[in-house]
Amino acid sequence: MTIHGSCLCGEVRFEFERAAGPFEICHCNRCRKTSGSHGMPTIGVLATEYRMTSGKKSVSTFAAPILYAAPAYHSSFCSKCGSPVPPANPDSDKLEIPAGLLDEDPGVAPDKHIFTEFIPPWDRIADTLPQFNIRELFREREGIELPDDFELRSHYDI
Ligand SMILES: [Zn+2]
Ligand SMILES: [Zn+2]
Repeated sequence: MTIHGSCLCGEVRFEFERAAGPFEICHCNRCRKTSGSHGMPTIGVLATEYRMTSGKKSVSTFAAPILYAAPAYHSSFCSKCGSPVPPANPDSDKLEIPAGLLDEDPGVAPDKHIFTEFIPPWDRIADTLPQFNIRELFREREGIELPDDFELRSHYDI
């Protein structure tokens, strides 16, 4: 089943073959800025199963200042309407698709909340999905234990 997605103006269109996962709702301050929302729900998709079918030339990409280590957080968006969009040409094996862009049911639902320490006071998680802060996420995903003196950084600090 091919799943289609598009931006607000319809200039940027893309498709992928299946949701490889995970399906995460990221509450980090960068995803909140780029989405203008409480968080960014993204679906993991394999680059080999993804194609941007129109509007590549309208995709702009912003590289945010590096907080910890390269690579930078990249935000791609439609230069006509401003919707966040997936990269035109992914530079890694896997990419994250903002789920709100999809025009069809991908057949999967969110499986976790991540970067939960960035959740602002006005937000409430009303579901029972697992929640991971940055320390738990590194342990789970990378098998890395962050040092005791690890300090959370935001783009306000740099
Ligand atoms: Zn657009
Ligand atoms: Zn994020």
